[in-house]
Amino acid sequence: MPFRSDPNAGEWQLLLVHRAGSLDRAIAVARRRNIAISFGVVLLVAASIGSIVVSTRRAQRLARQQVEFVAGVSHELRTPLSVIRSAGENLSDGVIAEPAQVKRYGALIAEEGRRLSEMVEQVMAFAGFNAGRDLSERAAAEVSVLIANAVADNGALIERNGFTLEQCISPGLPAVVVNAAALTQAIANLISNAVKYSGPSRWVRVTAEAAPASRRHEIRITVEDRGIGIRPDEQDRIFEPFFRSRDVLASTMRGSGLGLSLVRRIVEAHGGTISVKSSPGQGSAFTLHLPCGVAGETV
Ligand code: ADP
Repeated sequence: MPFRSDPNAGEWQLLLVHRAGSLDRAIAVARRRNIAISFGVVLLVAASIGSIVVSTRRAQRLARQQVEFVAGVSHELRTPLSVIRSAGENLSDGVIAEPAQVKRYGALIAEEGRRLSEMVEQVMAFAGFNAGRDLSERAAAEVSVLIANAVADNGALIERNGFTLEQCISPGLPAVVVNAAALTQAIANLISNAVKYSGPSRWVRVTAEAAPASRRHEIRITVEDRGIGIRPDEQDRIFEPFFRSRDVLASTMRGSGLGLSLVRRIVEAHGGTISVKSSPGQGSAFTLHLPCGVAGETV
């Protein structure tokens, strides 16, 4: 606020100057500031509306998935239950008497019972009840033993469907520190999917190898099939709970859509990841990547 005296007027004159310069400039600066603030507010409102829309969509999708899940689980439970009931009635009524037929009925009841148990296990695991299993309880385990147990869990399924199961386990793999029961279940799930989605092919291969990954080594356990494959646009979604591909939904292949989400949950709880390579009509390869050791250490 400089003061200046005018020698001609001989009186004092007070000049007020805005810091920004002229009045026009001051108004322009204030206007620009107001526009920027308004723009920020509009952006904030747009972002809030966007996030409300996204979360509403997510809630709707979840609600739809839950309805589908209840319908799917009920259907899945109904089929084996009715098979078991009618087989049991036929046996108790004496309709089936031939030893060979009795054996076949026994195998049918056992298989449907296995399906029911698997279903109940999956639903309980999804709901967070892991049959008393705490994923943080871990111990060193041999990869070959985990795979052998997972193959044994599917033994009847593999044999009954006439599958050839190849195993390529690299020699000298280091032990992994894992929850053996959970990891076995994850591998077994991939094997049973490979069998289920093999179409006319009767071949499954399980591979285990150690490979460098960034600064660490990882153990890669891969389950491959030459089955129906998965469309590219569905390959990310198959790990979502309840998701089943369009081709599978249109077929009579049974399932809950929970298996892969549980596999992912198990492998991620071990600090690992799961990946898939698949081509429709050619087959699929699911790989569990489990961290182990630091690159440079002997594996
Ligand atoms: P479910 O087998 O009970 O449907 P999953 O979670 O195990 O549930 O699998 C989800 C979906 O991923 C399956 O419905 C199927 O569409 C697809 N899928 C999984 N494994 C394979 C596979 N080996 N080959 C082709 N599709 C597969």
